[in-house]
Parts: sequence; C-alpha cells; structure tokens
Amino acid sequence: MYELIIVGGGPAAISAGIVSARKKIKTLVIADSFGGQWIMAGDIQNFIGTKSVSGFNLAKNLESHLKAQEGIEVKQAAVLKITKKGAGFSIEIDKGETFEAKTVLIASGSGHRKLNIPGEKEFEGKGVFYCATCDAPLMKDRAVAVVGGGNSAFESAISLLDYASKIYVLDRAEILKADEINQEKVRNSGKAEIIAGVSITEIFGDKMVSGLKYQSCDGGEIKELAVEGIFISISRIANNEIVNGLVEVNQAGEIIVDPKTQKTSVDGIWAAGDVTDVLYKQGNVAIGDGMKAALNIYSYLRIDNKK
Ligand SMILES: Cc1cc2nc3c(=O)[nH]c(=O)nc-3n(C[C@H](O)[C@H](O)[C@H](O)COP(=O)(O)OP(=O)(O)OC[C@H]3O[C@@H](n4cnc5c(N)ncnc54)[C@H](O)[C@@H]3O)c2cc1C
Repeated sequence: MYELIIVGGGPAAISAGIVSARKKIKTLVIADSFGGQWIMAGDIQNFIGTKSVSGFNLAKNLESHLKAQEGIEVKQAAVLKITKKGAGFSIEIDKGETFEAKTVLIASGSGHRKLNIPGEKEFEGKGVFYCATCDAPLMKDRAVAVVGGGNSAFESAISLLDYASKIYVLDRAEILKADEINQEKVRNSGKAEIIAGVSITEIFGDKMVSGLKYQSCDGGEIKELAVEGIFISISRIANNEIVNGLVEVNQAGEIIVDPKTQKTSVDGIWAAGDVTDVLYKQGNVAIGDGMKAALNIYSYLRIDNKK
C-alpha cells in the first residue's frame, strides 16, 4: 500500500510529488499526461523567476523534474474511480489495475468548456479549436474568432497574432477579465477587434467553418462574422468525475478545500489546483497549493500519527 497516491500530471500534482519525494513519503503519481494545461499555453511571462518561457517547455521541465526525484513512482494512466476502502482508498485505473493508498491528493485540473451550440461539435477540428498554441499555424492569413474574455482567451489571440489576418475576440461580458497587459498587446496589434457583451448562437460552414452568428446578450439582431477558425477559450470545468459522490463540491463542481491545508470534506483526501474551489486558477497558485497539500499530508501521516 502506498502512503500517498497523487492523481494528475500538471503543476499542482508535480509540485506535490516533488515535496513528497523529498519527505520520503511512499508515493505513486498517476497521470494520463504530464505538464497539464501549460502544454497548450504560449509564452508564460508570470512564472516566478523566469521572465519568459514557452508553456510547452515549462510543462516538459515539470515532468522531468518530477521523474528525477528518487523514490517516486510514476504511472501514465487515467484514474477512473476513487473509493473508500478500510482505513484508506482504492484507486482504479483504465488499465484494469487497482492501487491502494492511505491518502490521496486529487490534482486532476480542469478541461475545456464547450459552447454547446449548433455547429460546434460538427466542426470540431475543422475550424473549431480549443488550443491556439497547437492550431494557430493552420490559420495563416485567415480571419479568426476567439471566444472568451479571460487570460486564456487573450493568450489564444496573442498566439494567433503571428498567423491570422484578422482576429475577432467575442465575449459575453461587457468588461473583459483578462490582464490589462494581455489586452493591450491584442488591442495594439492593429489586427484585432473586440466585440463585448455578445453570445455566439451558431457556427456554420460546408466542409470547414466559414463563419459564426452572434447576438447581443440583451437580445436584438443576429449578426454574422466570416471567419475560418474559431478558438473557444471560455471558463473551464473541474475534472471531478473520479470522486463523484465522494467529496463535497460547490455548484460549479469544484472540490471544496480548506485553503489552509487543502483538505477536502473526506478525511484522507486532499485536493489542489484548478480542480478545487480556489479563486485564482493559475499555475503559480496550483504549484503553491500542491506544495501545501503535500506538506499537510506529511504532517498527517508522520506527525499527527493518525495512521
Ligand atoms: C492557454 C492557457 C494559458 C495559460 N497561461 C497561464 C499563464 O501564463 N500563467 C499561469 O500562471 N497560468 C496559466 N494558465 C493556467 C494554468 O495552466 C493552470 O492554472 C494550471 O495548469 C492548473 O494546474 P493543475 O495542476 O491544477 O491542473 P492541470 O494543468 O489542468 O493538470 C491536470 C492534470 O491532471 C491530469 N488528469 C486529469 N484527469 C485525470 C485522470 N482521471 N486520471 C489521470 N490524470 C488525470 C491531466 O492529464 C493533467 O496532467 C494557462 C492555462 C491555459 C489553458
């Protein structure tokens, strides 16, 4: 039996894994992929201690930092379910194996939220994209739309600046949430047009996307934009299915944690990063929370002497 199983391979899981290895906690990290959302991020300029680093490279560095830890076990697999078993937990993975642990840290992050409008599913990969870092080069000299008004939407727009001929940024909110520095870069590019306070009602095309329809959030006329790419970067959904019905979640499905310790409602389960109800979904915050969780797990296992 492991003392700790960490589920996830993003910043929160990796920072927790490094701390637990250094504390010599018998740990298994299970992730279906490594690096988390940073794999999709363009240029990261707020990773403390580094002026600018590509998200892809940072994600790869995180993975190799974790794997370099002595004593840590790492398995690439998807966790299907976590259940209570005796004094610990049983963790079932997609390869038919089951592992047991005294404690569990959920760091499964978050996934894409879809618009759920006509045309979105039909044109996925045919002009509808969720990762600008991956797919921006396909949009050379084409008009594109980015849907969303937060930092990830503006980072998508920034990734598109080198390729697209025109970038529309559309968001439901009148006042966009993205950091001013990101907004300025897009607004000052000469290529971008911001359309705030609107919702997208339909995506259309033939074999590939040729446009979208949108409407002001307070109703009114439906308008069309001719675009060949639509990058959806709206708020994300917590990956909480593996603990469905086991730990308490808020209305948004985010795991509720004690911010001092990262403990969940279930004794023996911690959570960290974007899967939790933490207010700020950021890599640096996820790293701090993962570290906090691992330190608290260490106290629980070795100092509180409960197990
Ligand atoms: C485009 C983009 C740009 C961003 N730019 C910045 C930035 O500049 N600065 C910044 O601080 N933050 C940025 N962020 C936010 C940052 O990436 C996230 O806050 C951070 O990655 C959250 O870390 P996490 O470990 O909680 O989750 P994630 O990064 O989501 O990682 C979750 C991990 O869990 C794994 N996983 C999920 N479910 C399972 C399962 N069932 N079984 C096994 N493994 C599973 C996933 O494969 C993944 O490895 C950006 C995000 C995006 C999308």
